[in-house]
Amino acid sequence: MLTAHSLCWLCRLPLALAHWGFCSRCARMLLYPHPLCPRCGLPSASTTLPCGRCLQKPPPWQQLVAVNDYIAPLSQLVQQFKSSGKPELANALARLLLWRAMLNAKGSQPDGIISVPLWQKRQWRRGFNQSDLLAAALSRWLGCQWYARALRRTRATPVQHHLSARLRKYNLKNAFHLEFDVRGLHIVVVDDVVTTGSTVAEISRLLLRNGAAKVEVWCLCRTL
Ligand SMILES: [Zn+2]
Ligand SMILES: [Zn+2]
Repeated sequence: MLTAHSLCWLCRLPLALAHWGFCSRCARMLLYPHPLCPRCGLPSASTTLPCGRCLQKPPPWQQLVAVNDYIAPLSQLVQQFKSSGKPELANALARLLLWRAMLNAKGSQPDGIISVPLWQKRQWRRGFNQSDLLAAALSRWLGCQWYARALRRTRATPVQHHLSARLRKYNLKNAFHLEFDVRGLHIVVVDDVVTTGSTVAEISRLLLRNGAAKVEVWCLCRTL
């Protein structure tokens, strides 16, 4: 008998491999390459060379991997995931992210994964952290450590939404404390959607300041 989990999340057709979440046709469509800059993840003319923005002012992380631009139907699936937190949908989306990372693969396997903390995203009422759900699945498949309690908040940070880029950076400065030794490690910072990037930038700077060898940001969507 078919269960809800053995249907594609998008087209609802039965899946040959139930745990994959999407049929191969839908997965290809969701991963269809809209050229994104490999450094910042924003739309760009090239998928291999950094965009003009990154040449002028590179972000602190070395690489940003996004499943795709914030476009339908991926954006709708991400919204559904954010409101429901269904573990099966988390696994299906995390698998797309892993596929994208494999397609982009340059260099080494990460040593550890950090998810952007819930308190930073101000979603207490939701009761789950969607980045944790993605990070847990990815660390399992990659066979690397998920540092679930890697970051401690050192002070309350005011809500970011209405602040300028400069004020956001100031607002987040020294807002976190790192709880483990990252010296020489290749770390992936996982978030569901990266918008301005100010939070993942602050986490990346903290990791690099503490001796991380390489920092990548992996997210479902990157948008401004
Ligand atoms: Zn499908
Ligand atoms: Zn760029």
